[in-house]
Amino acid sequence: MLGLMQDWPLLCHRIIEHAAQIHGTQEIVTRSVEGPIHRTNYKNIRDRALKVSQRLDRDGIKLGDRVATIAWNTWRHLEAWYGIMGIGAICHTVNPRLFPEQIAWIVNHAQDRVLMTDLTFVPILEKIADKMPSIERYVVFTDKAHMPQTTLKNAVPYEDWIAQADGDFKWKTFEENTAAAMCYTSGTTGDPKGVLYSHRSNVLHALMANTGDSLGANAGDTMLPVVPLFHANSWGIAFSAPSMGTKLVFPGAKLDGASVFELLETEKVTHTAGVPTVWLMLLNHIAANHLKLPHLRFVVCGGSAMPRSMIKAFVDMGVTVRHAWGMTEMSPIGTLAALKPPFAELEGDARLDMLQTQGYPPFGVQMKITDDAGKELPWDGKTFGRLKVSGPAVSKAYFRIDANILDEDGYFDTGDVATIDGHGYMRITDRSKDVIKSGGEWISSIDLENLAVGHPAVAEAAVIGVHHPKWDERPLLIVQLKQGATATREDILKYMDGKIAKWWMPDDIVFVDGIPHTATGKILKTALRDQFKAYSFPNAAA
Ligand code: ADP
Repeated sequence: MLGLMQDWPLLCHRIIEHAAQIHGTQEIVTRSVEGPIHRTNYKNIRDRALKVSQRLDRDGIKLGDRVATIAWNTWRHLEAWYGIMGIGAICHTVNPRLFPEQIAWIVNHAQDRVLMTDLTFVPILEKIADKMPSIERYVVFTDKAHMPQTTLKNAVPYEDWIAQADGDFKWKTFEENTAAAMCYTSGTTGDPKGVLYSHRSNVLHALMANTGDSLGANAGDTMLPVVPLFHANSWGIAFSAPSMGTKLVFPGAKLDGASVFELLETEKVTHTAGVPTVWLMLLNHIAANHLKLPHLRFVVCGGSAMPRSMIKAFVDMGVTVRHAWGMTEMSPIGTLAALKPPFAELEGDARLDMLQTQGYPPFGVQMKITDDAGKELPWDGKTFGRLKVSGPAVSKAYFRIDANILDEDGYFDTGDVATIDGHGYMRITDRSKDVIKSGGEWISSIDLENLAVGHPAVAEAAVIGVHHPKWDERPLLIVQLKQGATATREDILKYMDGKIAKWWMPDDIVFVDGIPHTATGKILKTALRDQFKAYSFPNAAA
């Protein structure tokens, strides 16, 4: 027997419709790419998103067609976002930090028909436009006065383009499992892979993000997502904030410490979200200038592990820290380190210990850890294994790749290695491809890196497994020293000694001038493995 509730498909444009009706005057503030601060509200965003829908519809963009955006967090990007999805087209957010060849590869793979972009990226796109024949038109997020001369095909300023629509248009209706948005993983191994979100998965993910133990914001709060819209829907904030009526503050192209601080201060921002690199810049700016942020209450940090010193710096400012883990394939929220009983009352180091975990999943994400053969491992906080997940906002396949990516129970292998404790708190130990397999046991490269950067002379550290005739693999520590600082191999080994198991100690240390990074700011271990493929340990003959 079926229930007798209404058929009410979970469609993304219902979110912006709700925001316009119930929170219509709530502000969206942007540091525009052109320079000045721009102010609008949810009602205007909805009205102009409808014009985007109408204009795309008139241009022949249909259900399932891909429309790309290569753009900063701005109000125009948000309008385009809902406008594209509102006719059942797919909003494909492209990461502008990728190499131009990779951008062209992704656009071709997605077969995007329209590309919307900021002034910043026009010169890059002009160089690769001939490699992207599927694009029929470029729309530049600006007005006529700021529009540059460009060779881009059918290029038009966004403001002129939507001015040709009168807004007398209705959102299209379709099935809730229809594709809504698309985001390619950064492709640190092999070609990038297209993750295809549905309307249903995005709406459910927004509801998951809306609790106090998740992103923690309400209608009375102000959220500044430093995390870009092209990074897994700005961690869901592009859906969750309008669904609650939270005021949004968009940083545009300026993500440095001083610019982010200025917006946090002048807009009285209560909540913000970004990767550790962004918070490092902000905290340095605050410390160097003896500044305060009396309105800031809540910082979400994810994308890579949040260092303990950073957690402490925010806690000391009286700010709630929410360390989060997730990935593009999970829309992206996987776990968040809220302190539930019996941990809420902890103080000092014990509290920092819990805040530093990657946390526990909200309802809608299930986890397990397994060994290489797929056997489930215990949740004892010590045993580590491959972290696998399932849920309504977790990928089951990649776009145009015909391969099964789930195990027999329907779980997706995240590629991370983790422990889970009896309370459900997960700790990432490593990426499975980076974990060092020494004599049949696993060594966490992340733990070694975290320890090494604690040495005062070390700017950045990376650990890779290098072949060893006796142990299969052993850890090689690659160190970039701080400018002007000195430390020898022995100094660093002495510093690490006694803080980890003896057999985890790196077999050697090499010093480099710079450590390579991916487009999302993670250490590029594939490049390091390549660089050191001919390396052999001094003790390798033993
Ligand atoms: P990509 O995999 O393409 O680099 P994602 O942004 O999807 O892009 O990265 C997801 C990965 O980032 C996770 O699988 C995990 O390895 C890492 N990650 C994300 N958040 C954290 C965190 N809080 N702590 C440690 N690692 C994290």
